[in-house]
Amino acid sequence: MHDKTLAQQAALLASGELTSVELVDHYLARIDRLNSDLNAYILVNEEAARNAAKAADEQIKNGEGGALTGIPIAHKDIFCTKGVRTTCGSRMLENFIAPYNATVVDKLTAAGVVSLGKANMDEFAMGSSNENSYFGSVANPWQHDRVPGGSSGGSAAIVAAQLASAATGTDTGGSIRQPAAFCGVTGIKPTYGRVSRYGMIAFASSLDQGGPLARTAEDCALLLQAMSGHDPRDSTSSDLEVPDFVASLNDDIKGLRIGVPEEYFGEGLESGVGDAVKEALTELERAGAVLKSVSLPNQGLCIPAYYVIAPAEASSNLSRFDGVRFGHRAENPQDLEDLYKRSRGEGFGAEVKRRILIGAYALSAGYYDAYYLKAQQVRQLVSNDFTEAFKEVDVIAGPTTPTTAFERGAKTSDPVSMYLNDLFTVSANLSGLPGISAPCGFSEGLPVGLQMVAPANQEARLLNIAHQYQNATNWHLQSPAAID
Ligand code: GLN
Repeated sequence: MHDKTLAQQAALLASGELTSVELVDHYLARIDRLNSDLNAYILVNEEAARNAAKAADEQIKNGEGGALTGIPIAHKDIFCTKGVRTTCGSRMLENFIAPYNATVVDKLTAAGVVSLGKANMDEFAMGSSNENSYFGSVANPWQHDRVPGGSSGGSAAIVAAQLASAATGTDTGGSIRQPAAFCGVTGIKPTYGRVSRYGMIAFASSLDQGGPLARTAEDCALLLQAMSGHDPRDSTSSDLEVPDFVASLNDDIKGLRIGVPEEYFGEGLESGVGDAVKEALTELERAGAVLKSVSLPNQGLCIPAYYVIAPAEASSNLSRFDGVRFGHRAENPQDLEDLYKRSRGEGFGAEVKRRILIGAYALSAGYYDAYYLKAQQVRQLVSNDFTEAFKEVDVIAGPTTPTTAFERGAKTSDPVSMYLNDLFTVSANLSGLPGISAPCGFSEGLPVGLQMVAPANQEARLLNIAHQYQNATNWHLQSPAAID
C-alpha cells in the first residue's frame, strides 16, 4: 500500500477498503525497518499516530471525512508541534518541546492528516545536502552514498522511500524543490504569503515559505489546499482567496506559453540533467504547450544577493537563541557574557555560525550600504526580470538543480560549491514567486527535477502543468530499488 499515491490511498480510505490504522501500522513497520539506514526521521510518534488514525477512522465511518482524513505524513522538524520535541535540526533546540502548533500543523491536523513524526533537516534550514543536521546526515534512498538534498532532505527522503504518504517542507532558497529533485519526488514552494509562517522556526523571514513534498502534483495540490490561507498570526500572510488547486489539475495546457531561459542551460549544468529537462520540455510541447526562449539577465547575481540577504536575516532571527530566552544553556557560566558566548558556541553548528557571522557583518553600520542594501537592490532587479519575462510567457521552466545528487561529504568543506546548488532555485524566493519541481528522468540512475516558476499566486497553473506532465510520463512513479 506504500507504493500508492496519497490520492489513491485517500480513495481507499474513503471507500472503507483500507483503514488509517492499517496504513499507519504499515508505515511504522517500514520506518522500523528502513529508517536506521536513512536517518530521515528524527522522531517517530507511534502512540500519537495510532490514536490519531483511530480517530480518523471513526470520522470516516461517520461520514465526516475529508480529502485527507487518515493520511499519514511527516512534518519537517522546523514546524512547532505542541507537546512534541521540535529541534530545527539543532543542538540549540535539542530539548525544546513546543508549547503550540505551527499553523501548518494545525491546518493539516484539522484536515484529518495523521502525523507520524518529525523529519530530519539541515540545522535551522541552512544547507543543500542535509549534512548540517545535529542529528546526523540523511541518505538518499536512491543511492545511500548520495545526499538527499537540503534543507528538507529528511522530508524528501521520507517521500522517496515511502515512509509516509507525504511530508511538509520549507523553502528559503530552494529547500523544497532541490531535495525533491534529488530524491525524485514532487515539491512546491508557494507564493510568499500563501502559507502561514506562524510556528515555522524563522531562518530568513522575507524568503521562508512552507509547502508540501509528495509523490505527485495531485498529492501536492491536495496538501497545499489544506495548508494555505490567511492567518492573522502571520502579518505577511496573504488574504487572497485560495483557489481550488485540485479542480484545475485537468485543465488543458494547449497554447500555454513556456519560457525557457537561456541562462539556465549554460556553464555548470550537468549534461545528463540538461538532456532530461530538454526531453521534458519536448513532452510538454507534445501536450500542446508552446516553448519560447526568454532571458533573465540578472540570473548570475541571484546567488551573491541571496547569500547576503539570507544570512543577514538569519543573524537577526537567531539572536533570540541566547540560552536565556530560548535554547541550549551552557553550564556554570561565570557571568552573563560567558553564558551568551558558550550557550551559542555550544548550541550552533559550523554552518549556522558562518551565516551569523556573514549576516552580522553585512548588517554592520560601516558595511550595510555596500552589502545588505546592494543585495536588496539586486533582488529588485531579479524580480524585474521575471516581471518582464511574464509579459511574454505563462511560466518559466528549466532544471531545478545543476547536477543530480552528489556524494555525501563531497562538498562539506567547500561552502561556495555547496551554495551553487541553489543556482536555479533562489530567484523564486528573492521574487516571492511560486515554484515547483517534478521528476523528469534520470541521469546515471539518479533522479532529475524539472522546475517551473509562475507569476505570483499562480500555484494552480504549476500544479496543472505538472499534473498533465505526470499523466503523460511515469518518472514520478519510479521508486528506489533499495526500499522494497
Ligand atoms: N540551500 C539554501 C541555504 O542553505 C536554501 C536553504 C533553504 O531553502 N532553507 O540557504
